[in-house]
Amino acid sequence: MMAESGQYLGIDVGGTRIKWSVVEDAKIVATGDVPTPREGGEILISLLKNLTASLGPTTRAIGLALPGLVNTQTRSTIFIPNIPGSWMNYPIAAEIEKSSGVPVFILNDARAFGHAELIVGAGRGERNALFLTLGTGVGGAIARDGQILVGEIDSIGEMGHVNIDAAGEICGCGGVGCLETVASGSALVGHMARVALTSLSPALASVLGDSGLQALTPESISRAADMKDPWALAAFEKIGRHLGLAAGTACVLMQLSCVVVGGGMSGAFRHIAPSMKAALEERTSVTGAISLHPAQLGSESGSLGAALYAGIRTEQQASQLSSQELAH
Ligand SMILES: [Zn+2]
Repeated sequence: MMAESGQYLGIDVGGTRIKWSVVEDAKIVATGDVPTPREGGEILISLLKNLTASLGPTTRAIGLALPGLVNTQTRSTIFIPNIPGSWMNYPIAAEIEKSSGVPVFILNDARAFGHAELIVGAGRGERNALFLTLGTGVGGAIARDGQILVGEIDSIGEMGHVNIDAAGEICGCGGVGCLETVASGSALVGHMARVALTSLSPALASVLGDSGLQALTPESISRAADMKDPWALAAFEKIGRHLGLAAGTACVLMQLSCVVVGGGMSGAFRHIAPSMKAALEERTSVTGAISLHPAQLGSESGSLGAALYAGIRTEQQASQLSSQELAH
């Protein structure tokens, strides 16, 4: 679906930074970022109002991607775990419309990532695909018939909270054995911290250097895996296996034939992909071939996807209006 012409502003609110992009014809024409205020709440809202207060006359709508659950119909937040504030049923879109004067549409940040990768990234041309974003947590989005599914309570594709281990760890959501408890960046760092404290791993020790555990990140663990550190290789193998199992389940349920992996931890794609591909191949007797790709877009994918979503919603509303006019 092509968005209505004009410019759209996409804003991606993350735990540490707020990124924005002005998008025209599915291309970014301007972009920038500011730190997310630690206080969250009203300070964050007034910052978003300032960001959107002096838009040019060509801006048609704003898309706002948020790191939590939102209601896309009432355009209110429901649950934003990592940003302080009273987010239950907070009418965030209506608040920002007061200062911006243009329509505001909200969605989950992983669904925004999915829009960007489907329309202009690694999923371009795919009709039925799964998009996974691996960062502190695990996010996801599902495309069917060439469109990212966005539910009323925007939880379609919420892959991080799919159960994959009945006897697993308790997740931040209250569930047990969620994918996020084994396949996220924080799960990887937690696991490798125990390895670093209890095992003699020369590769890991050399990668961490004098900084010790503070230097433990998905990137440094990935470098240890490049040096054939057996613990790092095993950790990525396990993550890939679990991602492949969960993604394979999504492919079976939704008849998907393509999986795209992005997010901060996707720099380790080369270490995750082999076991993930093997787990996906176990499902192909049911699903047919499933292709696996690294994401193509960088850290702007969230704000780009939010702008693309604003364009799609604007077009939907315009076509609803014109069909209502025809009916009268
Ligand atoms: Zn969970």
